[in-house]
Amino acid sequence: QSGGSGKISFRRLSKRDCKSNCKWNRILSERLECSIINLMETIIKKVENEQLNNEVIIEAGEILKRGGLVAFPTETVYGLGADALNEEAAQKIYAAKGRPSDNPLIVHITNMEDLLKITKNVSKEAFKVAEEYWPGPLTMIFEKNEKVPYGTTGGLNTVAVRMPSHEIARAVIDAGGGYIAAPSANTSGRPSPTAAEHVKDGRIDMIVDGGDVEIGVESTILDMTVTPPMILRPGAVTKEMLEDLIGEVAEDVALIDPDSKKKPKAPGMKYRHYAPKAELLIVEGKMDQVIETINRMAKEQISKGYKVGIIGTEESVASYKEGDVKSIGTREDESTIAVHLYGILREFDQDEVDYIYSESFATGGIGSAIMNRLLKAAGHHVINI
Ligand code: AMP
Ligand code: MG
Repeated sequence: QSGGSGKISFRRLSKRDCKSNCKWNRILSERLECSIINLMETIIKKVENEQLNNEVIIEAGEILKRGGLVAFPTETVYGLGADALNEEAAQKIYAAKGRPSDNPLIVHITNMEDLLKITKNVSKEAFKVAEEYWPGPLTMIFEKNEKVPYGTTGGLNTVAVRMPSHEIARAVIDAGGGYIAAPSANTSGRPSPTAAEHVKDGRIDMIVDGGDVEIGVESTILDMTVTPPMILRPGAVTKEMLEDLIGEVAEDVALIDPDSKKKPKAPGMKYRHYAPKAELLIVEGKMDQVIETINRMAKEQISKGYKVGIIGTEESVASYKEGDVKSIGTREDESTIAVHLYGILREFDQDEVDYIYSESFATGGIGSAIMNRLLKAAGHHVINI
């Protein structure tokens, strides 16, 4: 129920009391009266990339400096920002996202001097990688120093740091004091937001709307505290690109073999992530057989009265006969697939489909990031034909 500033309300709700963004829950209202935490009024401001609106940036900076939450665009996905060096502020992120407290946050900075102020033992390779890929969609893990609270790192002695390239993100980070924790601005476990409309208001002080993001999947995470450096999460900066620059780069085995009993090294990667509400199944195999199988399964479910969503590409959508068919992009340029992935999963949520059948994608370059997220969204539910 809207209106207050974080107080708890025990008044019985009626449908009229709820804003359109608040799902009225009859059962909750009738049985429990209402014990939902009051939603706060979220300030939503639009900013054009080319014309950084100073007033908006200053307002965002002030909110961050006094320990509030500001969602803003980055080149990867929308982030939910808080002052990373203020333990209480960082804790608000966990509450707003429903994020498990052992899942550490990434600290966003805008320059190399600031990196050295919060870390220890930055290696030569790390400088080399930073020179080539920062600012950009890459996060590196370093030993932290005493400035970084354990509340930000989930109790770890290491800290994840990224320097984004998005102009709005950079301006907000600088205005907010230079060290901003900013995980994806979605409810934990749901698809990450790639546009401001996907960010849920009501638990955030401010949303800076800078339009659609450019990449659409989260940053690559590279652990620089081990030898050889290890990729803990694939992203737009690929293993191939990093190996060309610094030689051998390892990959967390938990990424490659989901059945392995080994825990992923990035604590957040163990949770089911990016999940749409419908059951998602990935169909792998020769293209004509994939299409035939998806058509057959869709027909079967539709005849039973279910709604079916299908994820195809520019190359294949015309071949699907029934169901809610969407093109995710073109196989000729896989970055078009990455940028639409989360948006399409959200559209299927809105369409209230019961099943989603998706084609599978190749796993080189950005394809590894796409398949990593798609597999997690599907709970590793794949059929091979
Ligand atoms: P998000 O901010 O939602 O994109 O998620 C951040 C990811 O980085 C999660 O999977 C975290 O577990 C991971 N991460 C953050 N800090 C560390 C760290 N110090 N060591 C390993 N993984 C980390
Ligand atoms: Mg996330």
